[in-house]
Amino acid sequence: MNTLNETHDPCLRSWVSSAQDERSDFPIQNLPYAVFRPRTSGQAWRGGVAIGDEVLDLAALAHAQLIQASDPLAPAALNAAAQETLNEFMALGPAHWGALRRALSRLLRWGAAEKDALQQCLVPQAQVEYRVPARVGDYTDFYTSVHHATNVGRLFRPDSPLPPNYKWMPIGYHGRVSSLLISETEVRRPRGQLMPPGAPGPTLAACKRLDYELELGVFIGPGNELGQAINLDEAEAHVFGLCLLNDWSARDIQVWEYQPLGPFLSKNFATSLSPWVVTMEALAPYRLPFTRPSQDPQPLPYLDSPTHRTQGSIDIQLEVRLQTLAMRQAGQPAAPMSQSNYRHAYWTLAQMVTHHAASGCNLQPGDLLGTGTQSGPEPGEGGALIELTLGGQQPLSLPCGERRTFLEDGDTVALRAWCERPGAARLGFGVCEGQVLPASP
Ligand code: CA
Repeated sequence: MNTLNETHDPCLRSWVSSAQDERSDFPIQNLPYAVFRPRTSGQAWRGGVAIGDEVLDLAALAHAQLIQASDPLAPAALNAAAQETLNEFMALGPAHWGALRRALSRLLRWGAAEKDALQQCLVPQAQVEYRVPARVGDYTDFYTSVHHATNVGRLFRPDSPLPPNYKWMPIGYHGRVSSLLISETEVRRPRGQLMPPGAPGPTLAACKRLDYELELGVFIGPGNELGQAINLDEAEAHVFGLCLLNDWSARDIQVWEYQPLGPFLSKNFATSLSPWVVTMEALAPYRLPFTRPSQDPQPLPYLDSPTHRTQGSIDIQLEVRLQTLAMRQAGQPAAPMSQSNYRHAYWTLAQMVTHHAASGCNLQPGDLLGTGTQSGPEPGEGGALIELTLGGQQPLSLPCGERRTFLEDGDTVALRAWCERPGAARLGFGVCEGQVLPASP
């Protein structure tokens, strides 16, 4: 696991003035990666790093040859991170990631001699567009919030909300890559088979119970060979970083189709990702012990270690906001729907990775894992509308007098996340946003 170093120092300041703004998600202690290009430019996609409200263009930086070879890994890491996808960079592993982070931190610090040359490599975030930062080979969505699993399970199976395997392993299903969308891409309401209670038979129709799911996305770094498991204490060396993920879900399609093989059309039409990937190294100040209630089954030995118990969890504050079309037209800001924290996850990142590979399944650089909807323990901390409205039975009231059980056409959902604690810089994940379009005619 990452330890604290000079790049985490909360006293560091950047010569990029917007990085000092207390509301900025991207102080010099963060340095997340994306793939971007100037908007509508048709230029080549390339890697970038967020600093304040600017993007540091890594292709321009590589061209300018400002990274000194004092650390021999940094130039190679920069060349990989400057590519049109981050797969090559993700494959390099923690030593290269750390070398580039340290080099970038030094270049962007107040007083850096390279400031004037570096200014030519900055592009305002307001002027760029992003794409999914890796060529994702496979995507697996987990179900690691016991609160979400219990809340939703109670609606689907009142007698036994949690499946019998839930407290023994991080369960998941293999998802769909082709419909991964970068934030701000519109999401079309899906069609599928609906079978309302009491109906004589199913019909093909537009979903009427469209929902969001507040999740984190996990980008895999170096993979494992087919047939080779990953030890728990080595699992995070296979994790490049985290982004926000909205697993758009059609609840009425889901309830009819999900048995016995799990979600299918209810989930395969859209999954939105935030553009910025926050590295595991940046998250080092926010680690927390992993704990398991004493009355619950303790993790099997392959999902347990002393190091993991000490710092297996991460303190990441999560939030969902909703803006309806009427709110947008009235100039009203998005309304908060719920907050939660990744610290409540029943299974950690390392446990997800280790369990995924326990069969010998090979993970590959740029693969994506979803954490599953992150709901907190309290009512009102549900990470999906199906929880907040008790399956659509209790509508939510919005600031301009509207009510919602599920999403309406024109609604925009925005996910955010941030980390803060005394003695560390506050850093954020940016936003994962998407607006609902009507079903195709
Ligand atoms: Ca999900």
